Amino acid sequence: MGFFNSELFIDYVTNAVHPKTWMCGDWQKAFLSVAGNEFFEHMHENHDYWKFIDKLKPLSIWKLKTYQKHELYDKLVERLAKEMPQRQELPNQIIHTLEELNKTPEILSIGFARRFATYKRAHLIFIDLKRLASIVNNPQYPVRFIFSGKAHPSDKAGEDLIKRIIEVSRMPEFIGKIIFVENYDTELAKLLLKGVDVWLNTPTRPLEASGTSGMKAVMNGTLNFSVLDGWWAEGYVPGGGWALRQENTYDDPNLQDQLDAEMIYSTIEDEIVPTFYERDIEGVPQKWIEMIKNAYFHIAPHFITKRMLLEYDNKFYKQLFEYYKTLSDNDYQNLFKFISWKRKIYRNWDEIKLENIEMFDSSKRHLPLGDKFYVKLLLDLKELKPDDVIIELIFGKKEEGRIVDIEFAKAFDFVGCEGSKSKYECTIPMEQSGVYNFSIRLRPQHPLLAHKQDFYLVRWL
Ligand SMILES: *Cc1c(COP(=O)(O)O)cnc(C)c1O
Repeated sequence: MGFFNSELFIDYVTNAVHPKTWMCGDWQKAFLSVAGNEFFEHMHENHDYWKFIDKLKPLSIWKLKTYQKHELYDKLVERLAKEMPQRQELPNQIIHTLEELNKTPEILSIGFARRFATYKRAHLIFIDLKRLASIVNNPQYPVRFIFSGKAHPSDKAGEDLIKRIIEVSRMPEFIGKIIFVENYDTELAKLLLKGVDVWLNTPTRPLEASGTSGMKAVMNGTLNFSVLDGWWAEGYVPGGGWALRQENTYDDPNLQDQLDAEMIYSTIEDEIVPTFYERDIEGVPQKWIEMIKNAYFHIAPHFITKRMLLEYDNKFYKQLFEYYKTLSDNDYQNLFKFISWKRKIYRNWDEIKLENIEMFDSSKRHLPLGDKFYVKLLLDLKELKPDDVIIELIFGKKEEGRIVDIEFAKAFDFVGCEGSKSKYECTIPMEQSGVYNFSIRLRPQHPLLAHKQDFYLVRWL
């Protein structure tokens, strides 16, 4: 092993969504009316623009949200009236389902739509059907789940998940309460994202790479309820949605599924349902509106495409562009020099010899605090020059005889030649007492190496 995890050069940029595409027209209008026409220009850098939402009255926010919900339900009825006969549902099943949707479009609606890859665990809420039935059929505070999504054609397990949802949706206690809509695409996604109240995501930890649909939900005043994995691990703020804990409790995935299902049921019953159905005299769920505002204030501004693009540019593309220019300038002169330098390193690497090492011997004399610890090396670098390499004294925790992580590292200084050999020295003042573990690492050094691991040659001396 040449490097430690903490030295890894790979970095990341968090995903984001494009608000002009994913925020529905009514929300766009609402924000423009209170934040002004510069809203879309500044929303990624000046987070205060999102606070203008406070100028909207809770009643008008709720009217907007309810209007979107009616739009969703109108379209759902239209689509299901076509789809359900096509998938050979029984006539009374179809009539019953559509009646339910027409009758109760304003009940708490939870959306779950995505690719049906098994790690997304669409089956989770079906683990305890009795409990689920009592949640969706609560006479005062009913709940509806709307599912949509496609499985990859060769993903049998994913297809089985969809079959299971359709199966459950046919059970008498779930008719009109568990809905599956086919042909999930961006149009249906937009409809669901703005129309439902809660966007549910229950992936297996830690497999969710991002989960961008949750960001789209935030753009539309839809609250997220998700495992703290993928983007939600970064995006979640208390009071701006709901979360299932980040760590797995069990090694056995079945037990973990059971626990997560329990947590989902109780969060819906104890937190989501009461917040949604607690209304003021105008019928407005004030606390719910507060949560929508919190999500707009504290979550939305971080997940804007422009922020993401600027971050890619600043963190990576600019440097890459400069690097390319350096290599290619003057008809690739630097590149050719760099290549011949690399060849020289390869030729000599295994021939480098440690001729002598001398260090403070702490077994003979205890090093008093404030004194200096030193190591002196004499190396035969063959064809290499002293600054073709970097030698580091690395202190760290040792497990089973080897250092497992860096606590502190210092480069050796080249202090001169002794014949054809090169002398290096490293001194460290001892500011803390204790037992130190150290190793000495040699690696190539060149200004054109993009990072430590760009030319993967390492020797431990
Ligand atoms: C945004 C989007 C996705 C990706 O959503 P995830 O949350 O990553 O699953 C998939 N399909 C459609 C149609 C989308 O709009």
